[in-house]
Amino acid sequence: MSGGKSKDNMKSISEEMESLVSLLNKYSVAYYRDARPLVSDAEYDRLYDRLVKLEAEYPQARLDTSPTQRVGDDTIQGFEEVRHTIPVLSLDKAYSISDLENFRQRVAKAGFTNISFSLEEKIDGLSVVLYYEDGRLVRALTRGNGEVGSDITAGVRTIRSVPLQLDKKITIACRGELYLNKRSFEEINKTLVEPYANARNLAAGLIKRQKTREIVGSGLDIFIYEGFLDASAPGNAGIGFESHTQMLGFLAEMGFRTNPHTRFVSFEEFEHLDELIGKATEARNGLDYDIDGMVLKIDDFAVREKLGYTEHHPRWAIAYKFESPVAKSILKDIQVQVGRTGRLTPVAVFDKTFLLGSYIENASLHNKGYIEELEIAIGDEISFSKRGDVIPQVEEVLEKNEQGNLTFKFPDACPVCGGKVVDIGKNSFCVNEQCPARIVGEAAFFVSKHAMDIEGIGLSTIQDLYDLGLLKDFTDLYSIDYQRDLYGKLEYKEKKIRNIIDGLEKSKEKDFASVLVALQIPEVGKRSAEILVDAGFDDITKFIDASRAGDAESLSRIPMIGPKMATNVISFFRNPKMLARIEKLKAVPLRMSRQDGGSDMISDKLAGQVWCVTGSIEGYKNPDLAMEEVRRRGARIVSSVSSKTTHLLVGKNPGSKLQKAIANGKTILVPDSEFGKYLE
Ligand code: NAD
Repeated sequence: MSGGKSKDNMKSISEEMESLVSLLNKYSVAYYRDARPLVSDAEYDRLYDRLVKLEAEYPQARLDTSPTQRVGDDTIQGFEEVRHTIPVLSLDKAYSISDLENFRQRVAKAGFTNISFSLEEKIDGLSVVLYYEDGRLVRALTRGNGEVGSDITAGVRTIRSVPLQLDKKITIACRGELYLNKRSFEEINKTLVEPYANARNLAAGLIKRQKTREIVGSGLDIFIYEGFLDASAPGNAGIGFESHTQMLGFLAEMGFRTNPHTRFVSFEEFEHLDELIGKATEARNGLDYDIDGMVLKIDDFAVREKLGYTEHHPRWAIAYKFESPVAKSILKDIQVQVGRTGRLTPVAVFDKTFLLGSYIENASLHNKGYIEELEIAIGDEISFSKRGDVIPQVEEVLEKNEQGNLTFKFPDACPVCGGKVVDIGKNSFCVNEQCPARIVGEAAFFVSKHAMDIEGIGLSTIQDLYDLGLLKDFTDLYSIDYQRDLYGKLEYKEKKIRNIIDGLEKSKEKDFASVLVALQIPEVGKRSAEILVDAGFDDITKFIDASRAGDAESLSRIPMIGPKMATNVISFFRNPKMLARIEKLKAVPLRMSRQDGGSDMISDKLAGQVWCVTGSIEGYKNPDLAMEEVRRRGARIVSSVSSKTTHLLVGKNPGSKLQKAIANGKTILVPDSEFGKYLE
């Protein structure tokens, strides 16, 4: 090779490395900070591995900003940043049993042969560190950039399994993984207009919520997997551990939630590691949480210390990442579907291909932004997976087509009605309320299991009713004369029509929360509807009144509701189209209030008053619960003090609200010792 050529070669390698670094860093920001990845993990890992390979071959071209030189940064905007006092690193990765065998050989070469390892589930969540001083939880931080993390103490405190006070006055930092269980992920995701791709991203979204009451009961939990004792702390005198086994035992004794599936593997048992990992892979689907691999760690602390750390990971541990099976096919077409909210979803169409037990011929391309990101064109060879979800998704373009087809052009107009399309972020929406896809989609949702659960009517019946011109809005379902207008049309005979009529009749008994879901308030699913009803919004008029008064506050202070949903509810009940629908459904009649006699109001003793709370209140685990008592006696609750606040309940360690109330002059200060009197 000539000198000129090799220079050119080096130039193009440097350029490739630079572009990999900038791309990976961009992806990391979206993944860690925004919890909304731009590409799949498989694609990220592919680029990362390429960079690792190039850096090993050409160390002189390695950039300081390379993601291989530091851990991904998950610091959260708007949260205080605090310096870690322990090393908070990532893990080295293995993708095959032979990678693990290489790890064992590296350790053996360093002189450590007769040692054992722990084999732990690699929980697919967010890395957190809990700091305890004198036995008290003082701080919870995200991993951040490894040196500085975001303070998420308030959110973590709401997680029941996290001890706030330990039996011993020790000073300890505990590393753990914060995750959302699969069931809660599915439930919460169902209610979101922009659902999250997996439980990890939703967990990251939840812990970012500024108001902790939106986190309470959401299904977040933590497994603790490491403890770091501060040897100089007085409370730690005489406490020390020689191994991970001992440390995990101690953590469990202290009340931390450790993973019961952790097991220990001797040096010799390594021979059977493939079996152990095979078993874990099989057991994976039965778990209530996601794991994305298994972690192997050296048990003996003295050996750990001798092996030490790189900038990125400890040398005494390695994570085996489960492979995510992908299949390949040639993209034949992209069909753009329109959902009930008007959202346009592109779907890839290809020849039937076998993957994980079934044949697949369609996979999601998510949105317009994803298509642009992949630069995907008809005829390209693509890969797809069922990663993290049962819905297949396109992962990447493997080979560009030879026909010269250009990147798929996303439609400017709605493919169903030809109406105007508006882009919001990466998504595109048809804004025509009369779009047939929207009308059919809304009606199909109305009758579905998620809402009114009407037997006898499914999507195909809805489509037929629409095509026959009988249904222009889901409320028409109750006014159609089925015997007269449907009998004898298409396949509709006596029995089928009877089922439809019976199903609709039965739906009149459906509870108020289901009716609320069926109305399709953005983001309000079953769980949120029940929470709203339980919190006193037990009659449709209460929603309409709050909406008229612009009172988002009384909704947003309800645990798990939050400001965004509150605003959605307020604007929904202001919309004349929705109010007209409600009137029609009232006349059916569907249930427009809770039927179990269930208003939770106790009296109207405090009616007309406006209450707020500051500090922790004696006798109440959470100050919000004290405010619940006030609400049940007719008062209105607000989250910040204003000139309209009539009462401020003041507990231990009050915040700035107290100063504000004092400055107000008019607000009555109620010490928590006197609170009981107001409730009598
Ligand atoms: P990682 O998350 O794969 O592994 C390290 C982490 O594992 C630790 O920080 C810890 O929080 C966690 N962990 C879970 N259980 C554990 C246990 N029992 N013991 C110890 N640790 C445990 O590594 P990373 O460096 O944080 O992230 C890299 C990965 O993130 C990549 O492989 C990629 O898949 C993904 N990623 C994806 C994108 C994207 O755009 N899709 C971007 C950045 C990163």
